[in-house]
Amino acid sequence: MTERLPCKMEGCSATILPSTATKTGGICMPCYQEQERKKQQAYIEKHRKMVNLYENLTGHVEILKVMHAPKKYDPLIQYVSYPLSMEQIYISLSDQEADSMMKYALELLAVNNESEAEDILLSLVCYRDDNVSDALPELIQRGLFYHPILFKDSPQDIRDQLLERIAWDDDNRNHLLLVLGWIGDSAVIDQFQQWRKQPPEWAEQLFVTPETYALDGGWELTPEGERRNLINHVCYPIRQVNEQNNEVNIGYRARFLETSSAACPWCKRKLTKLMDIAVSHPALQYLNLSMENLQVVTCEACGCFSTIYMELDNRGMSVWSQFNQKPDYLPDLEDVNSSTEPPPCLNLAHVPQSPYYAAVWTMSQLDSQIGGHPSWVQDAEYPVCPCCERRMQYIGQIDYADFDEYGEGIFYMFICPKDKITATVYQQS
Ligand SMILES: [Zn+2]
Ligand SMILES: [Zn+2]
Ligand SMILES: [Zn+2]
Repeated sequence: MTERLPCKMEGCSATILPSTATKTGGICMPCYQEQERKKQQAYIEKHRKMVNLYENLTGHVEILKVMHAPKKYDPLIQYVSYPLSMEQIYISLSDQEADSMMKYALELLAVNNESEAEDILLSLVCYRDDNVSDALPELIQRGLFYHPILFKDSPQDIRDQLLERIAWDDDNRNHLLLVLGWIGDSAVIDQFQQWRKQPPEWAEQLFVTPETYALDGGWELTPEGERRNLINHVCYPIRQVNEQNNEVNIGYRARFLETSSAACPWCKRKLTKLMDIAVSHPALQYLNLSMENLQVVTCEACGCFSTIYMELDNRGMSVWSQFNQKPDYLPDLEDVNSSTEPPPCLNLAHVPQSPYYAAVWTMSQLDSQIGGHPSWVQDAEYPVCPCCERRMQYIGQIDYADFDEYGEGIFYMFICPKDKITATVYQQS
């Protein structure tokens, strides 16, 4: 039997074969690998260069082009980030600059750089609510229907072309129906109603009825065949209050993520007031609520597993609803620790944003907002009011990733103004 030697590394108790010792200079393989890793790291740190791709750029358009372009990964290069986010730059573009970005997207399409072109079009549509109809013929030509929101302002001829395409394009039908949901004009409403009365043959291949695709565009087809909006276009960001961000609103009473004094009947944990806000705020006025404040309360633990309904009294105080149905699965009580971190200090921004600002969850923006379109992580999911059995209206959302490095998941908030019931739904990737 070969005699084993002790590893020479201080504090290591491993023994090694003499042949290994010859290769590594007397230390065990794990110690050797760690030594090599440290050497490499030291080399990288010594030779790493800071590269500022924005150094000589002043125009917004040039800066955005650089931001969108993929960066070569090189451990020896550290890229300096630009002081403003992509969203902030898009919002501040002049009409002429936005037009240049639109033209640039078309140029990228012409050289088959589809994903970069789509990212630019999505940014124009979401952050600015710009009309990108000029790009639609090219997207259709290339069969690019993966971002249905891009088609929301389709002119009549394009809409008719898409309606007709649904009959034969088996591969893209699912996306094309989502596109129709986003267009949602009178021709689409009529078509959905017609399909409901007389389901087409291809409807059997879908998981839901064709008119259910309206939900993605923020509306539903009523039993009478009319469009009923489930979202409101007035949209304000919810942002963290700190030194860098003093643009938050103090004019309206608005509080977020406060702990309630009431406990969850299921897990006994204290409930959370996701928001408590004056109903006179411009983003809530359309609801015509009779109380002064609107509270949306949930259980941060159980709410991840079930829709949580709360009933509002005349002062807007929230009470656990008898309609709540305990789900079959809830995590063990012991695993549900209340966070020891104080909740972030949040408030509403002064200035409204595009209703589509956060509508595409996979983009880089912060998602927390009241009003606007939800950032669905999964499929659109509007809870049904347990009293009137109609879908509830979306009133806002809080994305835990916005305020916490380790946070994830979005709580979506809903209301039935008639029955004074709120609901929360939770989604995560
Ligand atoms: Zn060792
Ligand atoms: Zn609970
Ligand atoms: Zn109701």
